[in-house]
Amino acid sequence: MSDIDIDTLTSELHTLSTISDAVAPAVTRIVFSETDLRARTWLKQRCEQAGLALREDACGNTFARWTGSDSDLPPVATGSHIDAIPNAGAYDGTVGVLGGLEAIRALRRAQFTPRRSVELIIFTAEEPTRFGIGCLGSRLLAGTLDPSAGQRLRDADATLDQRREGAGFTGPLAGVRLPAGAYSAFLELHIEQGPLLERNGHDIGIVEAIAAPATLRVVINGVGGHAGAVLMPDRHDAFLAAAEIALATEAAAKSTGIVDTVATCGVCELFPGAVNSIPSRTRLEIDVRDIDLTRRDHVLTRIADACQTTGAQRGVDVQVERLNADPPAHCDPAIVDLITDACRRRGLSYARMISRAYHDALFMSQIAPTAMIFIPCRGGVSHRPDEYAPPTAIARGVEVLADTLARLSAQ
Ligand SMILES: [Zn+2]
Repeated sequence: MSDIDIDTLTSELHTLSTISDAVAPAVTRIVFSETDLRARTWLKQRCEQAGLALREDACGNTFARWTGSDSDLPPVATGSHIDAIPNAGAYDGTVGVLGGLEAIRALRRAQFTPRRSVELIIFTAEEPTRFGIGCLGSRLLAGTLDPSAGQRLRDADATLDQRREGAGFTGPLAGVRLPAGAYSAFLELHIEQGPLLERNGHDIGIVEAIAAPATLRVVINGVGGHAGAVLMPDRHDAFLAAAEIALATEAAAKSTGIVDTVATCGVCELFPGAVNSIPSRTRLEIDVRDIDLTRRDHVLTRIADACQTTGAQRGVDVQVERLNADPPAHCDPAIVDLITDACRRRGLSYARMISRAYHDALFMSQIAPTAMIFIPCRGGVSHRPDEYAPPTAIARGVEVLADTLARLSAQ
C-alpha cells in the first residue's frame, strides 16, 4: 500500500554512518559519547521533520510518536538502536531505526490514518561496549534490569548515572520502566547478521523465536610457580583446569543433540601470562544460548558441575558467577501471521527462522506481543566495517514493516 523512498533512506543511512569515531567505512558510536549525542540530535531532527512528537526517558531511550485517531489506545511500536561497537558497520540497528522512520513517512504519504498511535523507539545502549551489559535501554524499559542494579553499572571512569546525566538524561532510572500493555505490539526490523537468507535466496526472514542468552564468568585460582622448578605431580595449574572446563562446555552443548543449543568459551585470560610461569589464575567467560529455557539451564548446570568436579580433581578453587541468564522470546503468532501475509501480498519470498543473536525485541517481548523482520546482509557479515545490506533488500524489509504496522495500528 505504501511506497518506500529508498533514495532518501539510503542517503540517511550513509549520513548516520559518517557520524562516527572511526574512519569510514568503519563505524564506532559508543553510547553517550559526543558522537552518539550528535547522531541523536540529527536523528531527532529527522523525526521532527516527519511530524513526530518526541519524548526521552531517564536513560536516553527516545520515543517519536505519530498520534493515531484513537490516541487513548496503547500504541504500536517499532525501533532498534543506533549505537555501534568499535569498528562496526553501518546497518546493525540503524536499518530498524531509519527504516522504521521511513515506514512511518511512507504510510503518511499514502494518506494512511492510524487508529492506534505508532511509535518509533531508539533504544539506548543495545551494545554492551560501555557498561558491560547488552540492551541496557530495553532491559530497563521492560523491567528485567532492576534500577538499583543499573545504578551500579559503570565504565572505566564513571558510573551510568554520571554518564547519562552528563548526556542530559536526568531523573530516576526507576522511571524508565513501562508497564506490560504499554504497547499493543512491538516490531523490530534488523539485518539477519547470519548467512541463511542470502544463501537460500529469501527476501525476508520472519523471526519466530529469539534464543535465550546466558553468560558465565569462571575464575580459577590454582598455584603458580617456576615452569622449570615445579614438577608435574605437584602442580595445580589454573589454565589446565580452565581447558578441561572449556571442553566440558562444548560437551554440555553437544549433549542436548539439538542444533539450537550453542555454547562458546570466548574469553580466556591467564595470570601472570608468562611462558616460564605456571598460570596461577585463569578467567573464562562462557556464552550459552538456546531457544528452550529448560534445555539452556540444563547446559548451565552441567557446566557448573564440571567446574566443581575439575576443581576438586585438580586441587584448584573454581568460582562460577552468572552474569546474565535471560529467557528466550517466542514471537507473537498473530504478528508472525501478519508479516507472512504482507510478504505474500508483496510477492516476496520468506523463511521463518530463529534469531540466535539477541536484540531489544528479546526484552520488549516481556511487555508487548513482539515479532522481528530480518533482511539479508552480504555474507552474513556484521559488526565489521564491510557489513552491507543492498538498498533493494532494505526497501523490501521497510515495505513489510510498513504494511504490518498499518495492520497492527488499525486493530
Ligand atoms: Zn543490532
